[in-house]
Amino acid sequence: MIIDLISDTVTKPTPKMLEAMMSAKVGDDVFKMDPTVNELQEKVATMFGMEDALFFPSGTMANQTAIKLHTQPGDLVICDKYAHIYNYESGGVAFNSGVTCKLIDGERGMFTAKQIEEIAAAKPEIYLPYTKLICLENTTNKGGGACWDFEEIKKIQQVAKKNNLKFHLDGARLFNALVAKNETPKQYGELFDTISICLSKGLGAPIGSLLLGSKKDMTYGLRLRKLLGGGMRQVGFLAAAGIYALDNHVERLAEDHQKAKEIGALLGSLSYITKVEPIETNIIIFYVDEKIGAEFFINKMKEKNILLTPMGDGKLRIVTHLDYTDKMHEILLKELKNF
Ligand SMILES: *Cc1c(COP(=O)(O)O)cnc(C)c1O
Repeated sequence: MIIDLISDTVTKPTPKMLEAMMSAKVGDDVFKMDPTVNELQEKVATMFGMEDALFFPSGTMANQTAIKLHTQPGDLVICDKYAHIYNYESGGVAFNSGVTCKLIDGERGMFTAKQIEEIAAAKPEIYLPYTKLICLENTTNKGGGACWDFEEIKKIQQVAKKNNLKFHLDGARLFNALVAKNETPKQYGELFDTISICLSKGLGAPIGSLLLGSKKDMTYGLRLRKLLGGGMRQVGFLAAAGIYALDNHVERLAEDHQKAKEIGALLGSLSYITKVEPIETNIIIFYVDEKIGAEFFINKMKEKNILLTPMGDGKLRIVTHLDYTDKMHEILLKELKNF
């Protein structure tokens, strides 16, 4: 048995999800004729109280489309120094949109309204990049699954509004935040111009993301999706997995969070662990004693069929998910104790 804790993207469809996929009604989605894709898009738009939604093959493509929607080459995007859009999308902000990022020195991937006030209000001088867009990420990935304080998001939205800036949320793991903080999708739909969400992370679908926004933005978004190569055909089979995931796999995220907290509590008590970052959702970031070293630790765990991943700067990451069972949890806790 392999205990794969590398990411929540490693899950495989459950038998019931596969059943839903196999019985999906499909059509050509480039002609908007796939009824299951249409159903998923409408379902998610309604859930967030937003006008429209588009189904994407990946979260990266959804985010990149949003950035392209809101900017022109030479513009500036405000984001945290840990942001996925800056660190883990292959430099796509530069490649696809020709923009630069102002990296904010936040805490665990989150910054404050105060930290961006000045750059958000920069006057359009000919020698400056124009500030056009503020991007947040909730939960934060490199920040260890941290959840934003909703009041702070509202303050940042006020800064965006006051300065005529667009506001995008990378919500790849937004459902983890909603469950952990007892918030609703509509609260977020009210604040942001665009939101991306992933079905292929904690929700356990094999593929799929959505971008939400206004009718107007999603009309141009549809063209951008085609331009980027994301126009797909009979993908109702995949959309059906997403519908199933939204109906059945949201509330259970609390179980992943509980297991993550238990792992964190144990790690915190072990002498060879030097630090465990606060755990709010399903991501655990921790550091092993320098004398052991991250690489040695990863290799030793691999010998026990336990897979985890390095995050740079000596950080180690464990992610709990749908396919991480109670039995695996028992084994992991035992192996960590005995290391
Ligand atoms: C996973 C992830 C994405 C999108 O990733 P894809 O692999 O392209 O689906 C975007 N943002 C964050 C924060 C993520 O964790």
